[in-house]
Amino acid sequence: MERRKTIALVAHDNMKPDLVEWVDGHRESLLCHSLVCTGTTGKMISKVLIGEKGDGKCRLDVRLLKSGPLGGDQQLGAMIAEGGIDALIFFWDPMEAQPHDVDVKALLRLATLYNVPTAVNRSTADFMLSSPLFDGDYEPMVKDYRSYVERSLDR
Ligand code: PGA
Repeated sequence: MERRKTIALVAHDNMKPDLVEWVDGHRESLLCHSLVCTGTTGKMISKVLIGEKGDGKCRLDVRLLKSGPLGGDQQLGAMIAEGGIDALIFFWDPMEAQPHDVDVKALLRLATLYNVPTAVNRSTADFMLSSPLFDGDYEPMVKDYRSYVERSLDR
């Protein structure tokens, strides 16, 4: 994992104010990474970060995917499966069912499967971003699924 990370950011509607506030409080560090967001979350985050030039070494880099319920969560899941996401910050709503609950579950499942550092609330996101591992070359271990892939299904 490189020092400059690709961080995925997603928040359900009721959690967006929390994520926006969190991003605002961590703008300096976040500007030094590439951000990938579901559509609406990304628009809100871009507004907060726009105009921030950081210390000159970093620049704003936010990629917007489709809105979560319209496939954005699945796009992120595909990026995780392809090794394109280094960390996931996903403030999902524990108080409200979502129309795309299955996509949410799939995203969290893939993040777990591929051992992607995942924060689902502000305190974990704080711990993640302040970890010395985050600024290093930490390489998460991914289980070897070869025996599963190569299992025999012959009858
Ligand atoms: P949104 O999607 O950022 O487009 O609102 C988030 C989600 O609900 O998955």
